[in-house]
Amino acid sequence: MSEHHAEDPIADWTPTGIDVSVASVARVYDYLLGGKDNFKADREAAEAMLAVDPSSRAMTINNRRFLQRAVRVIAEDYGITQYLDHGSGLPTQDNVHQIAQSVHPEARVVYVDNDPIVLAHGRALLAENASTTVITADVRDTDGVMGHPDVVKLIDFDRPVAALFVSLLHCVPDSDDPGALLRRVVDRLAPGSLVVVSHLVSADPEVRRQRTELILATTHGNWGRVRTADEVTAFIADAGLDPIEPGLGNVSDWRPDGTAGPVQETTEWFEFGGVALKR
Ligand code: SAM
Repeated sequence: MSEHHAEDPIADWTPTGIDVSVASVARVYDYLLGGKDNFKADREAAEAMLAVDPSSRAMTINNRRFLQRAVRVIAEDYGITQYLDHGSGLPTQDNVHQIAQSVHPEARVVYVDNDPIVLAHGRALLAENASTTVITADVRDTDGVMGHPDVVKLIDFDRPVAALFVSLLHCVPDSDDPGALLRRVVDRLAPGSLVVVSHLVSADPEVRRQRTELILATTHGNWGRVRTADEVTAFIADAGLDPIEPGLGNVSDWRPDGTAGPVQETTEWFEFGGVALKR
């Protein structure tokens, strides 16, 4: 990854068609994780969020650590060798394929994101890796994702798969029914598959309203909403999934292994989720 911010002269490259004047969720998230693949609008959006809640950065780091712990458990304890990562974001350290392939060198991984900058950076990272690919697709289009030639080539849906929806479903507005989206994917997975979910939640209606409005404003409406833990629990239950130990909760607390990030001082909103099994 570049040592310079993406708009610095030395790294002043944007794939055609990317409007860098509007914040993108992938790049805001990259900035919060300490990455360099972001632009002014992304940094301003992230700083606006940090001004409202400085612990948002710790929350983001811990969400990413959760994803990494979840993939390790799925690879080591469940032997899963196929991964479909919905809303994968920009590559950072210890991406899904690096963890999965450290356990199972033959593991196959498909990253799916609708932000074209993810494809550009992913291709560079994966140039030498034939069992991993990144596709640009909208996760709301289940047929388009699961029937994509690169997905069909790498993933055998007759065998168990790990499907990741980490910090993704809150990007999907109610009008696009995130619960139905999860169900559609789970319905096509083989028994023994595992699903990883995290979602921004708050018990406080005012926090939900304020944070949702902030993110909708900075992304020009390209987002969903902060939901309640009960809503997310219902998505998982309605998809017919059984959470594995320790169940659903603040993902910072999911199977701690000493890799937790900085403590999120205020938890008026947090990433809620866990890992669930399709029986
Ligand atoms: N899953 C990664 C993680 O937790 O570390 C990244 C999470 S980031 C907050 C959400 C990602 O989902 C962004 O990269 C964004 O571009 C992507 N995304 C949002 N809506 C999407 C959609 N409808 N289709 C595909 N990707 C989407």
